[in-house]
Amino acid sequence: DDRPVSPARAEEDAAEASLRPQTLAEFIGQKASRENLSIFIQAARARGEALDHVLLHGPPGLGKTTLAQIVARELGVGFRATSGPVIQRAGDLAAILTNLQPRDVLFIDEIHRLQPAIEEVLYPAMEDFQLDLIIGEGPAARSVRIDLAPFTLVGATTRAGLLATPLRDRFGIPLRLVFYTPEELELIVRRGAQKLGFGLTPEGASEIARRSRGTPRIAGRLLRRVRDFALVQGDDPVDRPTADAALRRLEVDRLGLDAMDRRYLRRIAEHHHGGPVGVETLAAALAEARDTLEDVVEPFLIQEGLVLRTSRGRMLGERGWKHLGLPPPAGTQP
Ligand code: ADP
Repeated sequence: DDRPVSPARAEEDAAEASLRPQTLAEFIGQKASRENLSIFIQAARARGEALDHVLLHGPPGLGKTTLAQIVARELGVGFRATSGPVIQRAGDLAAILTNLQPRDVLFIDEIHRLQPAIEEVLYPAMEDFQLDLIIGEGPAARSVRIDLAPFTLVGATTRAGLLATPLRDRFGIPLRLVFYTPEELELIVRRGAQKLGFGLTPEGASEIARRSRGTPRIAGRLLRRVRDFALVQGDDPVDRPTADAALRRLEVDRLGLDAMDRRYLRRIAEHHHGGPVGVETLAAALAEARDTLEDVVEPFLIQEGLVLRTSRGRMLGERGWKHLGLPPPAGTQP
């Protein structure tokens, strides 16, 4: 997935890391989640106990990893990160868990992709800080119980509904991350330009923010691309026309949609008369994984009312038609 504005994680992690906020106070947006976390962190610190397990869910690029790191820093404990697909065997997880120091944060990204057998190991670890391992094979096999240091599991997933219920129920602090407002993104973009050390007018910042699909990761990427563009052109500070020209070059339109988004919208309009059409059909036609459509492409289009998710499939909303410059058929839902 190498779209210029893809919210998915890619090769630019190092560049991203330099823009990551380090404290809860520095973290912009997600007010509800931030306030809740702040209280629970203070309480855990006051009691000297591990923070309850936290589940962060929401589209990619909204700050789940960043928040997990901040939680560890604010608790003053160690941070260990892994991800669902990386943990192949129960022993891998056991090795990670037995190496945790008391009250450490263990971050598991894409926790919905843990294998069921490994989830089983996680349950007693989360609940009782215990590990039940089978040692040996056949008649000689025996089960041993290992006590773990109390720890905090921070799980991240794109959709809470992807998690098995028993796993989901073991998180005391479930937090849903939402798309950022243009104002919040503008602040993020302005801070980013400061950190990267280049000039950006308020209008330039607002232009990038409005076209970042409500997603800080995209805002950061667009900011870096705009900076490259301005550098080559010798434009300093970067103003609205420079930002606009760079974003056009990246095929990011005025709503922040890219070529993939427009292909998706056009497919529903032109091949399905606006829908409804099943997501599987769309995925096959667009040669994209269904998960990519559901996790990466659709959430923003749905939130913006460009696309509607109905029980019979996806439909183009009135705004979707308008954005394509096509007249909606009679009876299209707003
Ligand atoms: P996720 O884990 O949800 O995919 P990340 O935590 O990796 O998202 O965030 C992606 C990037 O976006 C980070 O590297 C960081 O630079 C930036 N970012 C995320 N949230 C914020 C925020 N609230 N303020 C500023 N930058 C942010």
